[in-house]
Amino acid sequence: MSDAPIEIGYIQQLEAEVKNLKRLLEINNVLNTILLKPTANIDALLGYLMNAAATLTSSQSASVILWREDLDALVIAATTTDATNLIGRVVPLDSIAGTIFKDQKVVQVDDATTDPRHYEGIDQTNKFVTRSLLGVPLIARDKVIGVLEVINKHTLPWTIEDIRNLSVLAGEAAIAIEVGQLVMALQKANAELAELDNLKNDFIAIASHELRTPLGIIMGYASFLQEEDDASVSEQASKVMESAMQLRRIIDAMINLRYLKQKTESLQREPIPLGAIMDDLKHDTLAVTSSRTHQLEFVMDDVESRIFVDRTRLLMALNNILNNAVIYTPAGNKITVTGRFHPETNEAVISIQDTGIGIEQDQLERIFKEFYQVEDHMVRRYGGLGIGLSIAQAVVHAHHGRIWAESDGLGKGATFFVALPLAELDEQD
Ligand code: ADP
Repeated sequence: MSDAPIEIGYIQQLEAEVKNLKRLLEINNVLNTILLKPTANIDALLGYLMNAAATLTSSQSASVILWREDLDALVIAATTTDATNLIGRVVPLDSIAGTIFKDQKVVQVDDATTDPRHYEGIDQTNKFVTRSLLGVPLIARDKVIGVLEVINKHTLPWTIEDIRNLSVLAGEAAIAIEVGQLVMALQKANAELAELDNLKNDFIAIASHELRTPLGIIMGYASFLQEEDDASVSEQASKVMESAMQLRRIIDAMINLRYLKQKTESLQREPIPLGAIMDDLKHDTLAVTSSRTHQLEFVMDDVESRIFVDRTRLLMALNNILNNAVIYTPAGNKITVTGRFHPETNEAVISIQDTGIGIEQDQLERIFKEFYQVEDHMVRRYGGLGIGLSIAQAVVHAHHGRIWAESDGLGKGATFFVALPLAELDEQD
């Protein structure tokens, strides 16, 4: 190795290089920060890129020109000049930018005024004349998506560093633009979905309330006719009444859908012995199952200890689960409801175990989704709307609890668990 002293010029060159790399790193960090914001904004991203490109290459201005699939054209997406009416302008494919895009190559022009490819449409709108230009293709995952251009270098000529810096920036920019576009498309799709969801909820709320009133009148007349001396009239009125009750249960479930939006603050919680909740549940269930004669068993070790819950809402949740157990379990089979305190997890756990049709492994989470039913709508053997479990889940989550289902598969029965935290009860005492 030579022990000749290192030249001062070489050190300065290295220092400049390090400074440059630091700047590129900084740009990369800012781009990532913009992208990672929940409100990722492609305009902010492009604006930052433009300024970085112009500063790095000591140029007067910069622009990003992107290929728009929908328009089948190259379009100006951002520029550092204040000529905002340039945004959205189509750039011809035989222009300098068009050439960079088509050939996927760097193009450097020292005197644009004599270059026949120069697109004068831009200068007419801009407040300055394009004299010199350096452009690189924007390539994301092997696909050219546009062009990054810097215009009018303060002191010509364009250097190797300019080309290298702009190319590095273009590499970063291409990926950032692609991710930014994806994020924005996702945000748009999410907003549209949320709007549709609101429309659906509004529709359900209005429709269910509107259905309730005429149904009330039908039930009123039916109950009146049930009292008739004529046996055939009272018998038919009873059939009307039975169907109307069924319809009312469906409408009530639809109205209860709003509990899906249930917030913890709107709960009316009080300390209640778990035994009292189990008694209420037993009472409600016996009213529904009397005709189907299931073997119902309620098991509890500790009836006195209390849980801190909204009694009405929790019972609604548990009733939904228990009604399902009744529906999906053949008459005569066993259903066991167990209430237990689990000091190790500081929870009260209520489980509802049936011996019915069972649930396949891949359905165990999906069944909690709004309107989801395992059986296809067209071939369904059971009634229902597919919202009972989603309501139960919303209520349990509003209590900061957990809800889940377990099953060994089809024909092997299912067990639903509701776990409620006890810590909040202690806070109340
Ligand atoms: P619904 O019972 O009105 O269809 P739910 O939200 O209460 O709506 O239940 C969603 C789906 O989960 C049901 O359609 C059924 O396919 C399945 N499911 C719920 N409970 C049970 C159960 N105990 N055994 C088997 N499948 C069940």
